Amino acid sequence: MTKSPPLFGKISLIGAGLIGSSIAQAARRANLAGHIAAYVPRAETRARAERIGFADSLHDELPPAIENADLVVLATPVSAYAELARAMAPHLKQGAILTDVGSVKSAVIKDVAPLVPKGVHFIPGHPVAGTEQSGPEAGFAELFDGRWCILTPPPDSNAQAVEKLKEFWRRCGSDVEIMDATHHDRVLAITSHVPHLIAYNIVGTAADLETVTQSEVIKYSASGFRDFTRIAASDPTMWRDIFLNNRDAVLEMLGRFNEDLAALQRAVRWGDGDALFNLFTRTRAIRRSIIEAGQDTAEPNFGRQPRDKTKT
Ligand code: NAP
Repeated sequence: MTKSPPLFGKISLIGAGLIGSSIAQAARRANLAGHIAAYVPRAETRARAERIGFADSLHDELPPAIENADLVVLATPVSAYAELARAMAPHLKQGAILTDVGSVKSAVIKDVAPLVPKGVHFIPGHPVAGTEQSGPEAGFAELFDGRWCILTPPPDSNAQAVEKLKEFWRRCGSDVEIMDATHHDRVLAITSHVPHLIAYNIVGTAADLETVTQSEVIKYSASGFRDFTRIAASDPTMWRDIFLNNRDAVLEMLGRFNEDLAALQRAVRWGDGDALFNLFTRTRAIRRSIIEAGQDTAEPNFGRQPRDKTKT
């Protein structure tokens, strides 16, 4: 049987971290590119990328990395996008698709869209998949399998280009949804950004407590705290940029969160067991729905292996 041609002649990845590396591996798995190039300016990261065979060509300069590329993917922290887009603009091929993977969308469109040359299709995207790991070695081909990828094309986007990018993400393993950028930012504020802020906050509070020692926090962490520490170990640069760039939606959701927390605080203070029980029953049902939707495993303890007692 003859192999069908790749979806794109050349894909160029800007950023060699968890997401860039996972895209490279998923694209290779599904034969989505004739050539995968990557712009990796830092020598140390480039050496690490080279060791794992990250791309067909690694570049320390931007123009050769994106020359003749049919698809260019911005996969750096969001704060680097504008400068990169400005530097890229004169070198992008006519008809190329420029996309990104940033966790916020309105700010990205505001920063990048004005810099994109006519004839280049800018279609922002966000694969809703990730881990708390960073760097080229953190990537894996299966990261996007069964996960959503949200595209937020501006209203005047080229329909064929949008369709091609949808196909790219489908073949990377994702289900694709089209959404308005503002709506994306509100949805992700409550499903991802505020939960991360809560995790950063609770881990910070525990670390600063004077009446409980740090060693006790670590020793008894399995009782709930540990799952917050996993989230709170996420990349500081990436998350700083998310909060700086999705301020309005995060503040709106935090306002709501604080009101609900105050109601819970009241229920605890006044011993309102019914209020507590009713909320916990509703939240348990949400967890079940997430498992039924295939977005997490029902294995106890999030599928973690119990600690091997033979090891120290
Ligand atoms: P990461 O593992 O920290 O990787 C970021 C990469 O960008 C690194 O290779 C870094 O290189 C490179 N980089 C930084 N500034 C650059 C610049 N000016 N030019 C070229 N390369 C540059 O981060 P990630 O998790 O892959 O996240 C990348 C993007 O994906 C972010 O915008 C994030 O919002 C989005 N995203 C992340 C997740 C997640 O769970 N992690 C999920 C969905 C979307 P150096 O290390 O050499 O600086």
